[in-house]
Amino acid sequence: MEPLRAVKGMNDVLPEEVPRWQRIERTFRDLSALYGFREIRTPLVEPTTLFVRSIGETTDIVEKEMYTFVDKGEHSLTLRPEGTASAVRAYLEHAVHAREPVTKWIYFGPMFRRERPAKGRYRQFWQAGAEVIGDPGPYVDAELIDMVALFMRSLGVLDVEVLVNSLGGAETRPRYRDALVRYLEPHRDTLCADCKRRIDHNPLRVLDCKVESDAAIARGAPSILELLGPDDRAHFDGLRRALDTLGTPYRVDEHLVRGLDYYTRTLFEVRGRGGELGAQNALCGGGRYDGLVESLGGSPTPAIGFAIGIDRLLLAMPSEEPAPRVEAIVAVTAPELAPQAALLARELRSAGVSTEADLRGQSLKSQLRRADKLGARVALVLGESEIARGAVQLKDLVGHTQTEVPRPDAVAKTRALLGGGAP
Ligand code: AMP
Repeated sequence: MEPLRAVKGMNDVLPEEVPRWQRIERTFRDLSALYGFREIRTPLVEPTTLFVRSIGETTDIVEKEMYTFVDKGEHSLTLRPEGTASAVRAYLEHAVHAREPVTKWIYFGPMFRRERPAKGRYRQFWQAGAEVIGDPGPYVDAELIDMVALFMRSLGVLDVEVLVNSLGGAETRPRYRDALVRYLEPHRDTLCADCKRRIDHNPLRVLDCKVESDAAIARGAPSILELLGPDDRAHFDGLRRALDTLGTPYRVDEHLVRGLDYYTRTLFEVRGRGGELGAQNALCGGGRYDGLVESLGGSPTPAIGFAIGIDRLLLAMPSEEPAPRVEAIVAVTAPELAPQAALLARELRSAGVSTEADLRGQSLKSQLRRADKLGARVALVLGESEIARGAVQLKDLVGHTQTEVPRPDAVAKTRALLGGGAP
């Protein structure tokens, strides 16, 4: 029989790795709360049309990468490939605009894209994202970029570069599209088959092509920044001024584009350079999507958001000492004393001390070996004679000392050893 394995490109996160995930999640929630964000949780599955209408019919995500299925022959559903479309759907469905002029949401969860798996590129991957709906910018754009930079710094991810560009709005985009098509047309024969199609349907996508000969052609493409209309230009200048005031380092990349069609004006990406990151070095992508709320049925509402790839962030984060799993263990000298160990362990946990009791009837030696393995600082040992005397042996596994303490004092003495309270 074939051994059962996880789906290709979808990973287990084992308990040893979970503390780092939790640290990222906690840091993101705490930091974004300081900026006034609240969390939204949307379903993992949405109607397929939501993504087709928002991300864009001629994007790689919609053309090739979505996990789409027909639910019992009735509705076409899709595992969400990203978070913004769902957030905007929820914003409209619950008429959130009627309650608040500016909505600030974060989300955290798995996304699904059928990409070719590689290090840092998976078919189920996690994103931490934020959306600000109702603020036209550009100053909130800068604040958001600054929040991402601060988030990365607080996780020790220091070797990063922030790239910014403007994709212009309605006044600029048609002009740029024409200029780009004029530039690309003479190269049509040398471009890859996908890009040949893109010239006609979605020329901006050519700038994003991963085929090296196409990327070389893209590097010579006209700069959108030179074609910005006056309002789009003022917006981009405002963004840059605000980033300068905040002291957020960034580089302008006039050819930066991203794989979703809904972006307008501000576009940004954070790339990592260190850690174990290889070719998949985009840690965060974001931008303004001023037309999306309207195109999904709402009234015209400006908005901006970003998504950070957690799997990649983990590759960029410095490795750390594994955190101890428990602070204390309770060991017994005979198997029939195990219930006494469970009782003392419960008292310790009630006092906030993470504790394990080995209840399997192992020898004292192997229980203490396990304490070491778990990284416990304290072992409390109960034997027949200690129980008869109403006492416990308290072992400091780091200081290598042992003292007998009265049973009623065991919890307080343990906490004192751990530095958590008066003896
Ligand atoms: P996007 O939603 O395409 O703008 O991507 C935002 C971020 O999500 C990227 O910068 C990556 O860090 C991460 N990401 C996107 N696709 C994948 C994937 N297939 N595997 C892992 N991370 C991804």
